[in-house]
Amino acid sequence: MKNPYPSDHFETQAVRTQVERTGFGEHSAPIYLTSSYLFDSAEHARALFANEQEGMIYSRYDNPSNDEFIDKMKRLEGTADGVATASGMAAVFGALAGTLSAGDHILAGRSLFGSSFQVLSTILPRFGITTSFFDLGRPETWEAQITTATKLVYVETPTNPGLDLVDLEFLSSLCNKRGLILAVDNCFATPYLQNPAAWGADLVIHSATKFIDGQGRGLGGVILGSEERITPIRFFCRQTGPALSPFHGWMFSKSLETLAVRMDRHCDNAEFLAQRLEGHPALKGVKHPFLASHPQQALAKKQMKRGGGLLTLDLKGGLEAGKKFLDALELCSLTANLGDTRTTATHPASTTHSKLTDAERAAVGIGPGTVRLSAGLEHREDLLADLLQALERV
Ligand code: PLP
Repeated sequence: MKNPYPSDHFETQAVRTQVERTGFGEHSAPIYLTSSYLFDSAEHARALFANEQEGMIYSRYDNPSNDEFIDKMKRLEGTADGVATASGMAAVFGALAGTLSAGDHILAGRSLFGSSFQVLSTILPRFGITTSFFDLGRPETWEAQITTATKLVYVETPTNPGLDLVDLEFLSSLCNKRGLILAVDNCFATPYLQNPAAWGADLVIHSATKFIDGQGRGLGGVILGSEERITPIRFFCRQTGPALSPFHGWMFSKSLETLAVRMDRHCDNAEFLAQRLEGHPALKGVKHPFLASHPQQALAKKQMKRGGGLLTLDLKGGLEAGKKFLDALELCSLTANLGDTRTTATHPASTTHSKLTDAERAAVGIGPGTVRLSAGLEHREDLLADLLQALERV
């Protein structure tokens, strides 16, 4: 792996961290679409399998296209090691299953992406790993929920879709004091806006499907941490097989080259929309981590470079207004994805979180009229005009 320019700057690392090129001297990285690699001899094969020599064996283990993506993510998040996976959920599951054993207990923030909640509440208990959830808004109660079986603390910040924050400095010092592993899903912030490892997180997890790809093209994920933390996770992933396709590894590595400029524009558009829509008569409120009205704005400014590309609108008319608003949108796309060049709108109460009760939704920051917007890269005035006309029609 080459890093031809010894810069600490995010943009230069994201562009210039690269695999060794082939003898053709290609400028752009090739895609290594191969499932296996040739051994020079039987002895070479033996030495590779015995870990006595470095080299590629099989693409479920290693692939140069994926390694370039992993190496960039390690540099951008400031961790020593990493594993790429076929989706963000494979990263969430791989990080937990590779680290924990039957009898272990997880303490997790209550407000989580739906599938992550299902893994913790339904799937892992079948293997003897239990979870209890803490309220994000009451950090003074967290320590009392730690038991002798607690091994890992799991959070998202900002949360999906509530856009609530967890104080990473506070939580990592608590984990340190109690000898717990801190795992943070950094999908909403991306490594450009927030580096959980710099605040003391042991594991950093991403769905690359969102802003890292940034163009809505493919699924992927990555788990980052120290060599000590990643070694058992790599073993778990290599044996169980949630490997990232080399095509997607190549695609994500290319996408990282533009992450900084894209994120700045996503943030510009989200901040502009949040400021312009706040106070609209059809809305109870607007939420964005960098808005002055966000109860955790000071924390957001402390641990994030900017507030991110997501915002939520809380429509006064509740469930029906939320659905009507989505149907009235002419430019923004109705889709469950986020972190795309195209602005996307989701109504959690009638879709992703429809199985929860009103009280359960309220506990994770979702009202009946909450609409999640992921600000894309269209012109901000076109986006504002679309949202205003839809609000008129609610
Ligand atoms: N984590 C968060 C915060 C997410 O929003 C998502 C997907 O929306 C995931 C994890 C799962 O990622 P994927 O869809 O790539 O499996």
